[in-house]
Amino acid sequence: MPQITINGTPVEAPEDSYVLEAIESLGIEVPTLCHHPALTPVGVCKVCVVEVALPGKKPRVRPSCILKPKEGMDIQTHSERVQKARTRAFRKLLRYAPESEKIYHLAEKFNVHLGPVPDDCIRCQICIRACSEIVGVGALAMDDLDNVVPVAGDKCIGCGTCANLCPTGAIRMEDKDGLRTIYIRDEIIGRHALVKCEACGRLFATQKFLDRVAERTGEHPHVKESHRYCPTCAKLLSDRVKSSKKIKRM
Ligand code: SF4
Repeated sequence: MPQITINGTPVEAPEDSYVLEAIESLGIEVPTLCHHPALTPVGVCKVCVVEVALPGKKPRVRPSCILKPKEGMDIQTHSERVQKARTRAFRKLLRYAPESEKIYHLAEKFNVHLGPVPDDCIRCQICIRACSEIVGVGALAMDDLDNVVPVAGDKCIGCGTCANLCPTGAIRMEDKDGLRTIYIRDEIIGRHALVKCEACGRLFATQKFLDRVAERTGEHPHVKESHRYCPTCAKLLSDRVKSSKKIKRM
């Protein structure tokens, strides 16, 4: 029976067995996806790769599920070469199953970094820039895993600029039951009560947004009262003021 070494531990492995079995017999975990003990191994997913060195030969990376033990084999299950080959294998699988949570969870368990889960967000950062440069709030940021996330401290004012400018619709704005909710993925960025237009009564904006507008624009010297009109009523009113001025001039 060939004697092999796995991560420095000697073990005897029957000739008709596979290295993966010897690895598992030592309680060492390697990821597997295409492997099933009741079926003939085929080594197609390649996430179970290990580094194999035979006396007098260069080390190679091979799927352990189809690797037969040979006398003097030295196996490394988590070397740098293994990690690189395993990452390539996981990434290749993602091309076929880009939204597979199973693949992401397995990769994470074995410290293989695959980048963020596809979520319609193309990481253009328009939302982050708009919230900071146009709205002046800075409620969004990128996290360590390259995901757009709300920053701590509930800064969102519910203006909807991020959702309106998002080129792929990854950020959504929903007005329902008197509440405005801003989402990315299934995560809530902000949720706020909507206030009514003083002319038509339609729920149209959040209080925090209106306060922000008042704060940024300041009081107009010719406006004695502050009214809160939706864009449609504001336009109608402004058209009426313009036409009344024209009439006076005549
Ligand atoms: S809705 Fe919130 S996160 Fe989006 S731009 Fe406005 S303040 Fe920023």
